[in-house]
Amino acid sequence: MKLYEEQQLSIYNSLSKSKEVFKPIHEGAVGMYVCGPTVYSNVHMGNCRTFLSFDLVFRYLKHLGYKVRYVRNITDAGHLENDGESGDDPILKKARLEQLEPMEVVQKYSVDFHDVMGRFNALPPSIEPTATGHIIEQIDIVTKLIDLGFAYEKNGSVYFDVLKFNETNTYGKLSGRQLEDMISNTRELAAQSEKKNPQDFALWKKAEPQHIMRWPSPWSEGFPGWHLECTAMSTKYLGKQFDIHGGGMDLKFPHHECEIAQAEASNNESPVNYWMHANMLTLNGKKMAKSTGNNILPHELFSGDNNILSKAYSPTVAKFFMYQAHYRSILDFSNDALEASEKGYNRLMDAYRSLDTLPTEGKSSLDISSWRQSCYDAMNDDFNSPILIAQLFEAVKMVNGVKEGVETLSETDLKTLKQTMHAFIFDVMGLLDISSEENKDGSRLDGAVGLLIELRNQARANKDFATSDRIRDELLEVGIQLKDGKDGTTYSLN
Ligand code: AMP
Ligand code: ZN
Repeated sequence: MKLYEEQQLSIYNSLSKSKEVFKPIHEGAVGMYVCGPTVYSNVHMGNCRTFLSFDLVFRYLKHLGYKVRYVRNITDAGHLENDGESGDDPILKKARLEQLEPMEVVQKYSVDFHDVMGRFNALPPSIEPTATGHIIEQIDIVTKLIDLGFAYEKNGSVYFDVLKFNETNTYGKLSGRQLEDMISNTRELAAQSEKKNPQDFALWKKAEPQHIMRWPSPWSEGFPGWHLECTAMSTKYLGKQFDIHGGGMDLKFPHHECEIAQAEASNNESPVNYWMHANMLTLNGKKMAKSTGNNILPHELFSGDNNILSKAYSPTVAKFFMYQAHYRSILDFSNDALEASEKGYNRLMDAYRSLDTLPTEGKSSLDISSWRQSCYDAMNDDFNSPILIAQLFEAVKMVNGVKEGVETLSETDLKTLKQTMHAFIFDVMGLLDISSEENKDGSRLDGAVGLLIELRNQARANKDFATSDRIRDELLEVGIQLKDGKDGTTYSLN
């Protein structure tokens, strides 16, 4: 018997705005599509939060015994600012800036993304298609939409006719926006716009002469609109209707709204059964974003080379920190919160490691099977990882109770406890046991550098700048950078 037959998973569906019991289209199998990164710069921790939220979903579905086909794309063309009305293609912009081929930009940041995901121990998706690898599929959809009267061509570009679509369908149902409100809230169309209405969005754009990423099509040499790639790739690999579609909350409108419109217009059916949206990671109370610079990059976190944190944190601790909030809640990134998560993680791992030496008795004083079910209940309730973690801390208490001799565990219960903790910590959350070697090395290094910082402070107090400079410079030579801040001196690894 598969676990999914005994556990009832509910998912909050952003489309119905309610929790629904999860029932896949094909029994035992799940199709899931998640919008991937636009690869024109390094992913920041906000992006990582969304991808790690869906790693948790992927892992839990697999843990329940489902055969999951997880498709997560790479946006390597077409993600225009402002739907191409006045904006540029960020990949092209970056290519110009760094004097690289656009595909070099794509390669560089795809490699970075995979590296970061690997460090977080996120599982790779089953399929990772690219927009540029699916131009033919996208052209096919545009052709179909024109034939069906849902799209029109203007000067070699093609736009989706939102008003026409809204005659038979509802545009705005995912984001809860009314088309009438959108119309009355928008200013007049810019004089140079080719669109019939400001709500219309680009399916195909004719390339300006300087635009080097271009493909032939029946309408012009050009490139596809951003929303179209996800419709093309999700349909190709998961079918016209599939189970789960995810992304960050900020993609609901217009991206996912447009995906629904494209799919409904071309296939006459609603493409997705469960829409899932992960909430934002904030820094200083504001959304982390590439464009504003209000962000922290994973390598800055792992090395400690940043102005936000007092020290370096491991990827596993950062992941644990993120899972201490539910994926639909906003989460603020701060040194205090990470420090607390690190302590919590260490406490959890200490308890887990001590299971091997725990004494057993004939009878248990603890109810392990109902505790085990509470872990499942937490995850079955829309992947509620903070409640799951609270249950794991209940286990820590139980372990300590047994150690102190105030509680007892039978051999079978100890086995269940260990299996369950293992399953949720390592399989479902995908945490790593970094305590062992990495942590030991880390604390040795902390101790040694701490001593040198102290000696340097003494030297400076004695105005012995030759010694204090030597300590700083020679540490730098071996890749350890000292940073003097208002709260004292910290270090980072270069
Ligand atoms: P992009 O590369 O800009 O298309 O973004 C990749 C993913 O990261 C999308 O699903 C976004 O919704 C998500 N994302 C962007 N900023 C944040 C943030 N501050 N917190 C969480 N997710 C984010
Ligand atoms: Zn998408």
